[in-house]
Amino acid sequence: MTIQWFPGHMAKARRQVTEKLKLIDIVFELVDARIPLSSRNPMIDEIIKNKPRLVLLNKADMADPKRTKEWISYFAENDIPALAIDSHAGVGMKQIVAEANLILKDKFDKMTARGIRPRAIRALIVGIPNVGKSTLINRLAKKKIAQTGDRPGVTKAQQWIKVGKELELLDTPGILWPKFEDQSVGLKLATTGAIKDTILNLQDIAVYALSFLKENYPLSLKERYQLEEIPSEIVPLFDEIGKRRGCMMPGGMTDYDKVAELVIRDIRSENLGKITFERP
Ligand code: GDP
Repeated sequence: MTIQWFPGHMAKARRQVTEKLKLIDIVFELVDARIPLSSRNPMIDEIIKNKPRLVLLNKADMADPKRTKEWISYFAENDIPALAIDSHAGVGMKQIVAEANLILKDKFDKMTARGIRPRAIRALIVGIPNVGKSTLINRLAKKKIAQTGDRPGVTKAQQWIKVGKELELLDTPGILWPKFEDQSVGLKLATTGAIKDTILNLQDIAVYALSFLKENYPLSLKERYQLEEIPSEIVPLFDEIGKRRGCMMPGGMTDYDKVAELVIRDIRSENLGKITFERP
């Protein structure tokens, strides 16, 4: 299901997150490690204000490890603690708890000093659709709690999920909208599968992705499609890939839709290797 983000829906999503902020100590802001900026909500700072936050670069298993390191340094330079995780395989789960403890140490020490009995840290996961919120909740809970997929309209009583003794998580994540202003953000979200293909033209997405790969990951492109040289223009590149992969129409014309589909599928299934589409 695709969420239609009309102004009313955005306002409601924001209100829901704001309500939940009152219940928690820390926000886990989930972003896609392949597009750490484009997969953020544009108003996140304003929405969570000065609530402590940990940025989680999810799907790090699909991202370029070199770039992921750069992104973690970038966030650190901006005083935002960040961790790379893979919610699918459960990599980085212990570090989340450790890092949350570290971030909240002062607050909890002060509470203890005032005679308040130590309790578990309470956290809320927020992020745009498809970034992996439900997968992470299920991982941390070690069982299936949240329905994967987007269900913004479904309301039920809030429940706390215990993650060991030190952490409690709200069982429903905060769903926020991505950035829309910028065409390139949309193309990145589509390339990584964060938004449905029907929203943008398939060939537009592939033109964006191939142009990016040509500049940034030429070897992966050459290897995957057995290209000796990468044509400098985009249409001949489509033609070459089409020829190699049998994406032809009767009469020998390239089937550009088929090439586009193939390239996007290859990127999303990691057939072109680990790729990050944004640099700090
Ligand atoms: P939500 O809409 O934010 O709750 O996202 P989901 O949890 O439904 O995840 C969206 C898709 O991303 C699903 O197909 C998940 O299996 C996949 N996914 C989530 N986390 C990871 C991850 O860390 N690595 C990989 N490779 N896939 C992930």
